[in-house]
Amino acid sequence: MQSVLVTGGAGFLGSHLCDRLIRDGHEVLCVDNFFTGSRRNVAALLNEPGFELMRHDVTFPLYVETERIFNLACPASPVHYQFDPVQTTKTSVHGAINMLGLARRVKARILQASTSEVYGDPDVHPQPESYLGRVNPIGIRSCYDEGKRCAETLFFDYHRQHHLDIKVVRIFNTYGPRMHPNDGRVVSNFIVQALRGEDITIYGDGSQTRSFCYVDDLIEAMVRMMDTDTGFTGPVNIGNPSEFSIRELAEKVIAMIGGPSKLVFRPLPSDDPRQRQPDIALARSALDWEPKVALDDGLRETVRYFRDLLKA
Ligand code: NAD
Ligand code: UDP
Ligand code: UDP
Repeated sequence: MQSVLVTGGAGFLGSHLCDRLIRDGHEVLCVDNFFTGSRRNVAALLNEPGFELMRHDVTFPLYVETERIFNLACPASPVHYQFDPVQTTKTSVHGAINMLGLARRVKARILQASTSEVYGDPDVHPQPESYLGRVNPIGIRSCYDEGKRCAETLFFDYHRQHHLDIKVVRIFNTYGPRMHPNDGRVVSNFIVQALRGEDITIYGDGSQTRSFCYVDDLIEAMVRMMDTDTGFTGPVNIGNPSEFSIRELAEKVIAMIGGPSKLVFRPLPSDDPRQRQPDIALARSALDWEPKVALDDGLRETVRYFRDLLKA
């Protein structure tokens, strides 16, 4: 049993991670400012003796005791991270500094939830960890992409300079129950639109691709990474390499849910990556991990979640 701090723990991924850590018998301190997360996501944990929820913004210092830190705090969907872009960069950068300072003081192992966005709009496909990326430093996605890149820099400098025990995972598009229904990400948007019988909004012509990983697979990889005692720091890609076009995803969702929804086309946001697929060879060898949940199965679980949510 360990004491574990999860920042952003009331969000989509964070709440699943808290579930898993409590199930594994750890003591969990969940820290969140509820910008995109909610108490509802962790409601089932509030009565667990090993679980504590704290409202706190990671851009401010945090003095607690802990053995391990998962740093997930940061809005992840374009709609939310572009709402207050300065705050987004602060969350990634000041948040990383504070959590690294905390890890340094208490000698905790610390894992950063980084992102495939560090590769930007890639011209190498699929993307291995060695690819340095193609990121616009001044565009509307930069607050997120560059914030996450700087956070990685800080992690590796604390590692080199202060010998911190760090782990960096680069997460590719992940979906599942507890995604925010209004967060604008493609899987939640399409499912919610289809369930409401509204038209499905495809940005651009829908030929851009993404590779979608189900949340349970992702959490397994994060936990394995945190538990690896070989000194392996990453960065390591985690995601599902099966790649689909956004149009194919829309058609799958309509076929699964039925109803009157049609495809409608909207302008493509600027800097929207054309294609994205993780090269997970490193995760396979270093973590003995690969995703197991097929898109159809994961979508079915996610549809069930949103159906219940919309009914309530
Ligand atoms: P999310 O928006 O559901 O979760 C983020 C959580 O962080 C929310 O609970 C939010 O309230 C909290 N938060 C935001 N700013 C904060 C601050 N300043 N202080 C404290 N808490 C703060 O998104 P998610 O999908 O669960 O993403 C979790 C992490 O994983 C993020 O760091 C994100 O960048 C990373 N990630 C996610 C994906 C994905 O596809 N879901 C892909 C790549 C990276
Ligand atoms: N910090 C924190 N909790 C701690 C220790 C440090 O939030 O338990 C923050 C503190 O605000 C500091 C930052 O982490 O500014 C970086 O700490 P570090 O010790 O690396 O550098 P400092 O700025 O203190 O020299
Ligand atoms: N997208 C879309 N319709 C929507 C929401 C998103 O066509 O209603 C597209 C978006 O332009 C992008 C892809 O789906 O090409 C994935 O978008 P998301 O915001 O989920 O993730 P990211 O772009 O950060 O990978």
